[in-house]
Amino acid sequence: MDWQAEDLKYIWHPCSQMKDYETLPPIVIERGEGINLYDINGKCYKDVISSWWCNLLGHSNPRINSAIKKQLDTLEHVIFANFTHKPAITLCEELMEVIPKGLCKFNFADNGSSAIEMSLKMSFQYHYQTGHPEKKRFMALTDAYHGETIGALSVGGVDLYSELYKPILMDVVRIKGPDCYRCSYAGIREACACECFKEAEKEFEKYGAETAAIIVEPLLQGSAGMKIYPARYLIKLRELCDKYNVHLIADEIATGYGRTGKMFAFDHAGVSPDIMCLSKGLTGGYMPMSIAITTQKIYDAFYDDYLKGKAFMHSHTYAGNPLACSAAIEVLKILKEEDIIKKANKKAVYFNRIIKEKFLPLENVGEVRTIGLINAIELVKDKSSKEALDYKKRTGYQIYKKALEKGVLLRPLGDVIYFNPPLIIEEEDMNFVTDVALECTKEILFNNK
Ligand code: PLP
Repeated sequence: MDWQAEDLKYIWHPCSQMKDYETLPPIVIERGEGINLYDINGKCYKDVISSWWCNLLGHSNPRINSAIKKQLDTLEHVIFANFTHKPAITLCEELMEVIPKGLCKFNFADNGSSAIEMSLKMSFQYHYQTGHPEKKRFMALTDAYHGETIGALSVGGVDLYSELYKPILMDVVRIKGPDCYRCSYAGIREACACECFKEAEKEFEKYGAETAAIIVEPLLQGSAGMKIYPARYLIKLRELCDKYNVHLIADEIATGYGRTGKMFAFDHAGVSPDIMCLSKGLTGGYMPMSIAITTQKIYDAFYDDYLKGKAFMHSHTYAGNPLACSAAIEVLKILKEEDIIKKANKKAVYFNRIIKEKFLPLENVGEVRTIGLINAIELVKDKSSKEALDYKKRTGYQIYKKALEKGVLLRPLGDVIYFNPPLIIEEEDMNFVTDVALECTKEILFNNK
């Protein structure tokens, strides 16, 4: 069978210009192990982007594999309305040990965007049912990314995904968010007082009364190019939300599960959101599952006699899938028993050091930024002006193609090369993938001159 030809015949791949895709050509992956993916010809690719940031503990992790297999022989799926099961209950009990204080009610869905949709609807309905029907707007930051369904896309601010659809999106209050690399207040990361928070205060003053919730990717705007901002911003935002009775929704879909060095990005701030969305690392990147976790206070606003019509009428067929729950329980056990986050933080110091050593001397590297094991290298035309590279040259994309040839799966965001590997990556692989990335970057930059 010519798998590549058959793929091209039938499959329309996500987030891909298919004309680009067919020239690569398609890579048919057969199996995975640790950070390695192997194609049908046995070629290895180092998955240093954790397959869209979801693979947390390596591919084909023996412990997660056996947890799912065990569950498979017991119960594969069951309707989650009026029915429940042990894996879902156990998962919530385990999550209660690690989530920010005050969060205690778990509403399941089956992908990140669905959890975002759910949290927006939940927030609006809460205000509606607590005497504030006027609170029907949402706020979000510039450069935000929260998924690609209509609601999620509306709160998102990355034009690549949302520009075309603007005529059919919700009208969202857009707050100019932190941009620490190109800070308009001339601040420096290490001594930042979050002067840019004024922008949020301004919009809250204008629109706070009619706003139900603000949604943020805490500390790290992933799709915007791994833009990192300080925890202080979240502390200030918590205060502002309380002042205006606006919910704070934490989109921890990409930042949760140790990606930022703590279990959740909000842990760096020491404050709690009103709703927290989880997905990706939740199941170790194994199964499509998400959860919107909220407070007793929000839950109570939906609790009443049936005929009052206050229930949250939101459902997804695969909500609470037992196989996904069994994977998620095992992930939490592994994190705890194998002290994964602490170990990852030690590796992160090494990873960041070698990336800085290798990349910072390059003429076109504007910044190397890091949080947890995530490292991003922003390529620019000129270091001092921070002017972007000519996007028409598609430098990041060419680096992606070159690195694939050499067995490393990078997926630059525009001209930002980044590493967001599974937390179990070892030094030897860190050395290899950074060497390959450097070699490819130098070659492409040279060719593009
Ligand atoms: N929110 C953030 C921060 C994400 O990074 C993503 C996916 O990359 C999503 C939401 C959407 O998740 P999904 O792709 O599962 O819909």
